[in-house]
Amino acid sequence: MLSILPLGCYGSDLENKKCITMQVTPSTVIDTGALLSSLDTPQLVDIRNVIITHCHFDHIKNLPIFSDFMLSLGGHSFNLYTTENIMKQILDHVLNDLIWPDFTKLPTKKKPTINFIPVYFDRPFIIDQTEFVPLEMNHLVESMGFIIRKGKSSAAYSGDTYSCERFVDAINSDRTVKTVCWEASFPNRLEKIAVASKHLTPELLEIELNKVKKKCDIHTFHLKPNLENEIMSDLLKIKSRMTITAMKQKKPISI
Ligand SMILES: [Zn+2]
Ligand SMILES: [Zn+2]
Repeated sequence: MLSILPLGCYGSDLENKKCITMQVTPSTVIDTGALLSSLDTPQLVDIRNVIITHCHFDHIKNLPIFSDFMLSLGGHSFNLYTTENIMKQILDHVLNDLIWPDFTKLPTKKKPTINFIPVYFDRPFIIDQTEFVPLEMNHLVESMGFIIRKGKSSAAYSGDTYSCERFVDAINSDRTVKTVCWEASFPNRLEKIAVASKHLTPELLEIELNKVKKKCDIHTFHLKPNLENEIMSDLLKIKSRMTITAMKQKKPISI
């Protein structure tokens, strides 16, 4: 069975509402926005696979400190799965030996803390019997969504995105996908900001949902926490045959 556990499911931080981290196997997370504040030390040491969807801060927020944690605790290492382009962005602008050390060279180049594993759009990779098919999403920067499969269970995960034909096609062309995690970042009132930052509002999400040719369970996430109530009431106005539920932190989605 596939399970997606949102450790953080918001597009920013506020009180206990945290940036994005989705745990998809006991050893694997997608993004690191809420990694350190959500797991205890033994659980953190078990995280050996980190998938980064894109370089925006709410998704890489804990990556520098998690790297330091793994090295200083006892020389642990972990695999970082992302595209070559996204890895370069992280190394150029964050792990650049100025903002924070380059943990792809520490403690040594031969046995570094971060083992970078490049992934490629539309080329599946497997972690813990779970298959990830990276999809190129439509966001301000290079950004990955996924079809995620384990056994007979599968789900689509949008990451950060605006309207994206590739994502809708992937959902429509895979008969097994009936669960979709889809972002809804801003309320309808802020559509201009949503479009400029290549995100969705509930109204824009409704347009996407109407392109999907089957009934799915939709789990919305990446809501701006300070606008949550307004976004939630806009989500209720969506006219669609889909079941729409807002993700809740620490409440697993079991597929
Ligand atoms: Zn984001
Ligand atoms: Zn983003």
